[in-house]
Amino acid sequence: MTTADPRQAPAGTAAAGPTDRIAALRPAYRADLADGTDRFFHPRRTDCPWCTSTALRTRLHTTDLLQHKPGRFALDTCEDCGHTFQNPRLNDKGLEFYYRDFYDGSGEERLGKTFAGRAALHRKQAGSVLPHSPAPRSWLDVGTGHGHFCATARDVFPGTEFDGVDLSQGVELAERAGRLRRGLRGLLPELAPRLAGQYDVVSMLHYLEHTTDPGRELASAHQVLRPGGLLLVEVPDPGSRFARLLGRWWLPWLQPQHLHLAPAANLHRRLEAIGFTVVAEQHGEAHDPIDLLAAGWLLLDHLAPREDAPWHPDGPGVLRRILRPALLLAGAPLLIAAALLDRLLAPIAGRTGLSNAYRLLARRTT
Ligand SMILES: [Zn+2]
Repeated sequence: MTTADPRQAPAGTAAAGPTDRIAALRPAYRADLADGTDRFFHPRRTDCPWCTSTALRTRLHTTDLLQHKPGRFALDTCEDCGHTFQNPRLNDKGLEFYYRDFYDGSGEERLGKTFAGRAALHRKQAGSVLPHSPAPRSWLDVGTGHGHFCATARDVFPGTEFDGVDLSQGVELAERAGRLRRGLRGLLPELAPRLAGQYDVVSMLHYLEHTTDPGRELASAHQVLRPGGLLLVEVPDPGSRFARLLGRWWLPWLQPQHLHLAPAANLHRRLEAIGFTVVAEQHGEAHDPIDLLAAGWLLLDHLAPREDAPWHPDGPGVLRRILRPALLLAGAPLLIAAALLDRLLAPIAGRTGLSNAYRLLARRTT
């Protein structure tokens, strides 16, 4: 990782700055996009992936509001069970394309700082297990990213061994940095047979919504837990009032990464059906008070897109370079007001249906 000042780095050298890094990535993105984005999707489904009902309605059309990569995305909701899902859904090529340079690559440094600053939230998530399992021996965090949750959870459970699973290289960095005992790179359903019955706790924090088959992930969690072990799941709540209020500007829609958003009742029923007993369901406690601030930010970022990115065919024009700082400055009071309102509403989020996430804790009983 270079520490050179990008303004002084000559173009094309190893110490190249962000502009040169973007230019270096641009040809690969240009080749990927040469035939458009249709090839990134499966055919559109005509039935609900959760309950197979064919009573579907489109809930939302949107674009990639975070990275601003090209492409359009739709979320459908099942009229019978309430499951909300991306339709048509990204295929493997599409997932690779839209995840590239987000958690790894050029986005890694930025996100690493974001997640490292989430310790208070991680402490609360870990703490929700404490009354039901005060001293677990082993814990598997699925979708662990760079292992920051485990690093914080160790403060709450000092005697526990933490392993992590993730598709990205972050999990290997996390093991080397000592945040994980073992960093397992791969997909849980593929790793589960050799991890069978090994864990006292499995956590899936904002993970299931990213997976192509949440039911299969839950079955794998059941497999890797010891009988009596606990599964902690936290996911965005598609039933949140903020989701309706903010429409496509609601951050937890997070297109195109979030493929499945299950209402709490669906997840509850599925867990009970596969051999778990739900011991706690929390709504207000899982709320992350960022909805209004994030919506304001996404809107401003949409109106005046950021300086440059490798998936844009060319570098930024003069107008964009001037417009963005001006708009962000003008929008600053709006963002401050939004952040204050988020804070004010946080204590009543659970009671008022505003909570943007929910948490289920379930014990493996069979
Ligand atoms: Zn359904």
